[in-house]
Amino acid sequence: MRRSAVRGGKLLCLGLACCCAFGMAGATIGSDGSFRLLKLDGYHVKWGENTLGAGATVSYAFVEVPMRFDGARNCRELVPMTDLATRNGISETTLHAETAAAFRAWEEAANITFIPADDPDQADILIGAQGQPIGRAYANVMYQPGSIDGVRAIGRALVCLNPEQRWKVGFDGDIEVYDMRYTLVHEIGHAIGLDHPGPSGQIMSFGYSENYSDLQPGDFYGVQLLYGVGMRNMTAGSSSD
Ligand SMILES: [Zn+2]
Repeated sequence: MRRSAVRGGKLLCLGLACCCAFGMAGATIGSDGSFRLLKLDGYHVKWGENTLGAGATVSYAFVEVPMRFDGARNCRELVPMTDLATRNGISETTLHAETAAAFRAWEEAANITFIPADDPDQADILIGAQGQPIGRAYANVMYQPGSIDGVRAIGRALVCLNPEQRWKVGFDGDIEVYDMRYTLVHEIGHAIGLDHPGPSGQIMSFGYSENYSDLQPGDFYGVQLLYGVGMRNMTAGSSSD
């Protein structure tokens, strides 16, 4: 673990069967209900400055050896993604490309930048397979002590996928097998401070869907409220690759 103290945590997931394990009272919700900011113990959480709208740079890495996070509500044990990918016929190159594309979707929406970390121990967001498989996919968000104007800084976030589920790359209409990139976009959304606005209509909705692969309007509103609109977002359209 990195040195900065983190506390708290949250059970966050994608998939109707595994959600609703936490309260939603007091969350900031879009006026049209299209987004909802994550609230942990009454505080919004975001990377970077404790100010809504301030940009951030966040590092990420895949775990390379099993790692344990005793304080986490979920993703308590992370193991490398190698077996999950191999079992589903997903090459390491494709896994990394899909992950990079998932981060890029959020980069293109708001003033947040993601950089690969050389050392997983130092990465802000860690991605791995679950050591104790459950559900489909989860994120766990841990915040640092102290707050400004009701906003706390995220100290670390974990994203974990169930290696016993089947996974795919791309949509094929079978919503029982989740697309890797869609799932990662959703879980990264949690890892940067977004909650579920409801069951459907946005990538941050808790129901898996193959009706859209890009961020939806509520996803944009939510992430821009957290991190602001960057110069890049003013010229770039939404990701379509
Ligand atoms: Zn979720």
